[in-house]
Amino acid sequence: MITRDECLAFDRDDALASLRGEFILDDSLIYLDGNSLGPVSKAVQTRVSETIDREWAQSLVRGWGEGWMEAPTRLGDRLAPLIGAQQGEVLVADSLTILLAKLIGGALDQRRDRHVVLTDAANFHSDIYIAEAMAKRAGRPVRVRAIDRARLDDELNEDVALVMLTHVDFRSGEMLDLQGITTKVHDVGALMLWDFAHSTGAVPLDVTGANVDFAAGCGYKYLNGGPGSPAFMYVRSSWQGILENPLCGWLGHARPFDFEPTYEPAKGMQAFVTSSPSIVAMAALEGALEIWDRVTIDQVRTKSLAMTDLFMTLVAQRQPGAFEVVTPLEHSIRGSQVALRHKEAYGIIQALIERKLIGDFRHPDICRFGFTPLYLRFVDVFDAVEHLVKVMDTNAYRDSRFAVRKSVT
Ligand SMILES: *Cc1c(COP(=O)(O)O)cnc(C)c1O
Repeated sequence: MITRDECLAFDRDDALASLRGEFILDDSLIYLDGNSLGPVSKAVQTRVSETIDREWAQSLVRGWGEGWMEAPTRLGDRLAPLIGAQQGEVLVADSLTILLAKLIGGALDQRRDRHVVLTDAANFHSDIYIAEAMAKRAGRPVRVRAIDRARLDDELNEDVALVMLTHVDFRSGEMLDLQGITTKVHDVGALMLWDFAHSTGAVPLDVTGANVDFAAGCGYKYLNGGPGSPAFMYVRSSWQGILENPLCGWLGHARPFDFEPTYEPAKGMQAFVTSSPSIVAMAALEGALEIWDRVTIDQVRTKSLAMTDLFMTLVAQRQPGAFEVVTPLEHSIRGSQVALRHKEAYGIIQALIERKLIGDFRHPDICRFGFTPLYLRFVDVFDAVEHLVKVMDTNAYRDSRFAVRKSVT
């Protein structure tokens, strides 16, 4: 049996322990939902108030000439090492679904003789919706096939233009084989787009080594950029100048201030900027990224696996109820969350939230717990499992108040 004292000892030995102090967290709360919305850090507060008080208040419109215009590429370069990209291959803009639209639309134009987009039936619904929307507008019949990803090999053929997969499954936490799948997709001449929503800032990524064509991810999950934070996109350098932005706008023009009536794309990632970047939101993300100057993704990964291992071990020891562990035990295919399946999952999560343990419910029957090494302690993992035991032992999850679901889960 692992004891609470042992967990406190793990925290004393944890090289990342001091980083928790950089975040603004309610100490009475156990926050296992940083995979949905990361907390705010002091660096974010500082960077945002500087941007408002100095840049916006004092520079006014001159701010565009004093660094605002470069924010999408500057932040992209700052984020690039986290996904194994080179400088000049990443852009920060818009939100994830919009960036997926740009990449899907652009990719479909590069494979005009092909008619299929393959994705995972278990993918996040927004990814599937936007793929269908772009397929309809491809200028030829294109079908989106949302398949069981275990059957990918059978579905890959010369009619597939693009494969779009989410690297870490948002429900189960299973992590897919970045390099192996990308290679298979290229073997049939198709293009590969990865969604890193649940990967960036959580697991090491090497888009260069895996020869990925395109990728995108969120700023507000493990990157802690704030609610509705701008997202990022990656376009391998060999595609730049070839891949076109299907949602082009003035700030992606080669000379936006010439006000020319005809569009001519800017060089590099700037071509994927459509319109004015949201500078205050960009400042929040820029502040949030500062922590990565002091910590490596390998350190984060080591602690993340130790935390998810600890959670699974404690659940196995304490046996809180009839839970099925959906997340893989094998490290090489596990992201940074643990999903437990239970038919009363919704009520269980609500009862946990009342006890100040925040996780989330994912339809239809998943209790999802995110483990974020920058600010979580091993003792939080221990206490979380004790809360789970209490909720199950007392039947708190059966309360009639949880019979009706809230609109946001
Ligand atoms: C969180 C998430 C999104 C959210 O997209 P937004 O456009 O930023 O709201 C999309 N896809 C996946 C896989 C996600 O996990």
